[in-house]
Amino acid sequence: MRATVMFEAGDVRIEDVPDARLVEPTDALIRVTRACICGSDLWPYNQLEHSETGVRMGHEAVGVVEAVGADVRTMKAGDLVVMPFAYSDGTCVFCHDGLHTSCIHGGFFGTGDVGGAQAEAVRVPQADGTLFVLPVGEDDALMPSLLTLSDVMGTGHHAAVAAKVGPGKSVAVVGDGAVGLCAVIAAKRLGAEQIIILGRHADRIGLAREFGATDVVSERGEEAVERVRELTGGFGAHSVLECVGHGQAVATAIGVARPGGAVGRVGVPQDETMPASLPAFFGNVTVGGGPAPVRAYVEELLPDVLEGRIEPGRVLDRAVGLDGVPDGYRAMNDRESIKVMVRP
Ligand SMILES: [Zn+2]
Repeated sequence: MRATVMFEAGDVRIEDVPDARLVEPTDALIRVTRACICGSDLWPYNQLEHSETGVRMGHEAVGVVEAVGADVRTMKAGDLVVMPFAYSDGTCVFCHDGLHTSCIHGGFFGTGDVGGAQAEAVRVPQADGTLFVLPVGEDDALMPSLLTLSDVMGTGHHAAVAAKVGPGKSVAVVGDGAVGLCAVIAAKRLGAEQIIILGRHADRIGLAREFGATDVVSERGEEAVERVRELTGGFGAHSVLECVGHGQAVATAIGVARPGGAVGRVGVPQDETMPASLPAFFGNVTVGGGPAPVRAYVEELLPDVLEGRIEPGRVLDRAVGLDGVPDGYRAMNDRESIKVMVRP
């Protein structure tokens, strides 16, 4: 089968690889009907050291179940499923707590012997716990939005949950990528009164406004902190959703939080240590978040997608076949595209 393999920074190829197949009795095999390129794929795209074997890419997918192992109970061949970016058993102590990304039998796609989703097919471990059967056909018009439930919409929602967004709150969203835009949707959905997006790309800001952002801050660093304070009566935001991950973004996120506020981090950190420790301490700012347990959020978010109350699929502004994946990476890296959908 054909799959996306990254050999080093900037070198993404579509390769013939051994067919994905069932290995464990708890596995499912899915034929990928939609996948995406993720903002987090751009970190290795810029930094990966040369590897002879390469790294299999992709962790977001919707697909059709082709086969299931002997122990799989909740789906059958032919079902259309959404695949969260982490697999999980759905039964362990952490899954019961809604923290599927810490599942004791879990892991991530595109690592170890589990392939990536930017491919014709993918083996899904712990299928009963991981996959969610969708009540639509594989070419449903809602497919882009359903696909975001595999990562970016669930991740934006997790940032909002970790940052304790609620009715009447002021919210700042750091980052105008696909996750930041979904974080705006999540904040509005949870009743935020004021939603300030920190970003500077006109197309993304426009979409953020359509999703519910009330204010835009295009400055960076200290100037951005000052501007958010001005917009929030001098105090900062109750809830800050950090959707980038590099040091300056985290420092800005903590800087714009009001005393007693909360920062929800979902950008993958690029630093060993957390910046702005002192202001976080003296402001009694809660800093939470981490890899989003998107599987835990599918049931809550799916009805809003199916009934058209939220349209997170609008962040997918380009679609390619597998052959277009390498150029899709380039387009996202050059900020030509917010997020690329793949139709293998
Ligand atoms: Zn578990």
